[in-house]
Amino acid sequence: MAEMSWAAGTQCVAKGDHRKPKPGELAYHKGDILTIVDTSTKKGCYVVKHNSTGEEGLINSANVREREALRVDPNLSLMPWFHGKISGPDAVCKLQPAEDGLFLVRESIRHPGDYVLCLSVSGKVVHYRVIYKDNKLTIDNTQYFYNLIDMIEFFSKNKGSIATTLLKPKQKQGTKSAEVELSKTGWLLDISNLTLGQNIGEGEFGAVHEGEYMGQRVAVKTIKCDVTAQAFLQETTVMTKLQHKNLVRLLGVILHKGLHIVTELMTKGNLVNFLRTRGRSVVNSVQLLRFALDVCEGMGYLESKKLVHRDLAARNVLVADDSVAKVSDFGLTKLDLKEPDNVKLPVKWTAPEALKKEKFSTKSDVWSYGVLLWEIFSYGRQPYPKMSLKEVKERVEGAIVWRLQRTAPPVYTP
Ligand code: ADP
Repeated sequence: MAEMSWAAGTQCVAKGDHRKPKPGELAYHKGDILTIVDTSTKKGCYVVKHNSTGEEGLINSANVREREALRVDPNLSLMPWFHGKISGPDAVCKLQPAEDGLFLVRESIRHPGDYVLCLSVSGKVVHYRVIYKDNKLTIDNTQYFYNLIDMIEFFSKNKGSIATTLLKPKQKQGTKSAEVELSKTGWLLDISNLTLGQNIGEGEFGAVHEGEYMGQRVAVKTIKCDVTAQAFLQETTVMTKLQHKNLVRLLGVILHKGLHIVTELMTKGNLVNFLRTRGRSVVNSVQLLRFALDVCEGMGYLESKKLVHRDLAARNVLVADDSVAKVSDFGLTKLDLKEPDNVKLPVKWTAPEALKKEKFSTKSDVWSYGVLLWEIFSYGRQPYPKMSLKEVKERVEGAIVWRLQRTAPPVYTP
């Protein structure tokens, strides 16, 4: 099985524990992620680096498997036990054959918007109404939860005031458990290894904290809302496929009270703030050019994977400790471009055909890259200063007409 074909840089997952290493060998636990460093050693062996401890040593290739990318799959769900709107009797049917601890969550038909936890115990199904109170969910008015994921996690570990702990989710037909898939492919991290530090950023959907995961400095984006978390699962799935020095690297995810996305820590923050706070006296033009090249290489790689970013801008480029720039925020990245989105467009970065007809492509990413270049060389100024979004939209969309008429557009510097 384990053919000698892995290149240096390949990420592997340990299949079992190796607690008593011989001299030169590396110790690891089942599920640890290891990066191949050297392939030219003994047959059947690799020199690897432990992703969390940084230690290097020899391993036997038969004891590891390559870390796979997660397949982009709309059925992948953080809440595979959520069955949507079904009636009580339907829920009872689904929980057959009876088994203590078998459960599902449904949306009430009689009270739309209300959730019901249905639990099989002693051959019967008990229905617990989930009450929404002060922005939180509760069953018994003693324990409160941010969302359903949080609630199910709690009652899977604690009996609380329900008949039995939740033991086995009844999966909705067609869904796949994100937890199971993430774990199988080696992307699920363990919350107990994470130390959260201070807040370093506020995203649209959740706060970003710095932290430490088994000795490695990381950034953690926490998404509490279950619906948003589900949407971000898509972003995360895309990220599992991408490995490039100019793309912010996903280390894995943690499922705990929602979704935590763990990435490498980019200590110098986003590129706009980097440029604005330092300015010309500190950052020279060689460095600016380097940023431009870094982003270019990252985006070239994305194109090679047939991905369109859709939101390239200096605020979505992060700067590492060694001042290497990396593209981040794949939130809008889509594999296929069929479905139009109602997302708010970053007007000043968006190409005319994308503004007009939502036609996003590598070409429209190149347009955004052009605006990004302007941001870089202006040390982080807002593009088209003093122009309103409406005005920009009109003038940029107008630019198409100018080109078609082969007339010179009005002379105009962004
Ligand atoms: P948004 O939701 O606005 O697109 P993010 O949630 O991705 O933004 O990030 C918000 C801010 O948090 C960023 O502008 C950046 O300053 C900081 N940040 C995000 N990811 C990292 C990281 N990996 N390392 C360091 N800082 C980060």
